[in-house]
Amino acid sequence: MSSIACPKCGSYQNSVMDSRSNPDPVPNIRRRRKCQCGQRFTTKEVVVDGMERRQMLDLSDLPLATRAAFRQLHAAALRRDGV
Ligand SMILES: [Zn+2]
Repeated sequence: MSSIACPKCGSYQNSVMDSRSNPDPVPNIRRRRKCQCGQRFTTKEVVVDGMERRQMLDLSDLPLATRAAFRQLHAAALRRDGV
């Protein structure tokens, strides 16, 4: 069901605790996941040109710089797709 590996142990055995649609910066779904090892992390899934792009976020542990880097990556993807 999940294709996201746990950032801590690498396991794919994680479950979705919560899903939330988010309109910013483009429509996306943020999913809070919990791994069998106890690690919690967040993924952000967006659909661009019919192609799903899944990006892992860990809002609780990652520094601000990493979040900023993700936003830049995301913006670059948008430019590439001409949105
Ligand atoms: Zn884990």
